[in-house]
Amino acid sequence: MQTTPQQTHLELVSDKEKVHRIAVVGSGISALSAAWFLSQRYEVEIFEKDDRLGGHTNTVSVAENDKVLNIDTGFIVFNRPNYPNLTAMFEHLQVATENTDMSFAVSIDKGDLEYSGTNLNGLFAQRRNLLSPKHWSMILEIMRFNRQAKNDLKSSYALDQSLGVYLLEHEFSPAMRDHYRLPMAAAIWSCPVETMMQFPTRSFLQFFANHGLLNIEDRPQWETVTNGSGTYIDKIIQNSDFKIHLSSPVDKVQKQANGVKLTTASGKQDYFDAVVLGCHADQAWQMMDADLKTEFAPLQHFEYQENMAYLHTDLALMPTRKAAWSSWNYLRDMQSPETHVAVSYWMNQLQNLDTDQDYMVTLNPIDKPDPAKTLKEIRYEHPVFDKDAMQAQSQLMDLQGRSGIWLCGSYFGYGFHEDGLKSSVDLARLWNLSLPWEESEDDHKQFELDLIRTASNAASDKHIDRQDEQQPIQAAS
Ligand SMILES: Cc1cc2nc3c(=O)[nH]c(=O)nc-3n(C[C@H](O)[C@H](O)[C@H](O)COP(=O)(O)OP(=O)(O)OC[C@H]3O[C@@H](n4cnc5c(N)ncnc54)[C@H](O)[C@@H]3O)c2cc1C
Repeated sequence: MQTTPQQTHLELVSDKEKVHRIAVVGSGISALSAAWFLSQRYEVEIFEKDDRLGGHTNTVSVAENDKVLNIDTGFIVFNRPNYPNLTAMFEHLQVATENTDMSFAVSIDKGDLEYSGTNLNGLFAQRRNLLSPKHWSMILEIMRFNRQAKNDLKSSYALDQSLGVYLLEHEFSPAMRDHYRLPMAAAIWSCPVETMMQFPTRSFLQFFANHGLLNIEDRPQWETVTNGSGTYIDKIIQNSDFKIHLSSPVDKVQKQANGVKLTTASGKQDYFDAVVLGCHADQAWQMMDADLKTEFAPLQHFEYQENMAYLHTDLALMPTRKAAWSSWNYLRDMQSPETHVAVSYWMNQLQNLDTDQDYMVTLNPIDKPDPAKTLKEIRYEHPVFDKDAMQAQSQLMDLQGRSGIWLCGSYFGYGFHEDGLKSSVDLARLWNLSLPWEESEDDHKQFELDLIRTASNAASDKHIDRQDEQQPIQAAS
């Protein structure tokens, strides 16, 4: 039987008449925006484990002389073509943004190999590379990769292998792989190159194509929030009406006959008609009782990588040649295995800071910054996208609303800010809530199409399960 968008939608919204009180767990972009949308109609309470709102939106205030600088240590950049919901939200909230520069540099073995992809001066920051056939061949290989990837995306080539296999299949040189493509990808996804090798190829190439990263020219203009990304959190709070419980980690969510029981780490219990888990997939899975774990089994396939971030002024964690300094600087010590990606964000360039000092945020530095130059140390976690996670991702919409539990988070997409916001926008649509800003008809159509796809995926999964059950058990030989 064919499923129509209306039928699918109605099935998903059927129980909402009874809902009055909703708990939202977390306060990153996903949870905070979900709370905002839902609070237009329901009584909403946010439970956040930290003593501040924002999750990965984390702007730190630093005093320099008589100025206060608001420096982003988490979410920093977006672009309009690939972040349509975030752009609409910023416009609605009148969040001021400004252009930024997304240049990228590689510094290997403390400057042994060093270049920046920004311009010719940067590409040949080490002048001896002008005469290096290896360096020239890497540049040609980068162009070959871009051509190959664009052709493969257009063709019916399967692309279901891992990125590592794809690079081998096309015999791309180790130099292009280890000194350009993987460092760039590892810096984008904040995970080591080994993990990037497992990334599903189609998703990887599609992301690179969408972000103009398969072009040398014609890349989208990146922007940053003026005065720090934390600005938009204040605006959401001013524009919405929900209760906030800070320093309130949720320990347990338990299925009840009529709703969900929520228990915080301090032992406080409360009952809600519905709960939105806006924390990471592994955290959501962790707090579920046994019944819920069975219903939400796909969540266990999302793994997260821990990353330590340092806000500091230690120039030792930048490329050794100033000509190579870029907004993103990938640092690598080839003598030891890369268990965590080391990348320095040059905040002066990214946020157009007018300061005396250079400020950097470094993820997983090979050597920690000088403590005297360290302003803040923060622990973050990023989703790891492998085949299992991507497969689980296709089942997420089908889990929505089971036993009164709803999900949102950037793990619904590629792990970026737009993905987190899109997950809560989709959640609002499932609840038949209009967004605070005007939606385009195309967006709505796309959502209906996604629902049909989810419904047919779920139906075929069930069909496969049933077929599996009917298979006779093979006698041991
Ligand atoms: C250093 C860094 C830089 C980044 N830069 C960019 C960028 O420039 N552009 C971009 O698009 N993306 C960027 N990202 C990706 C970023 O992770 C996503 O953009 C997005 O912010 C993730 O949002 P989220 O709401 O899904 O998760 P989070 O923001 O992580 O929110 C999850 C929330 O759940 C809370 N929580 C967890 N467990 C519990 C519990 N038991 N009880 C209560 N609360 C709980 C957490 O404290 C947190 O507030 C960056 C990430 C990092 C770490």
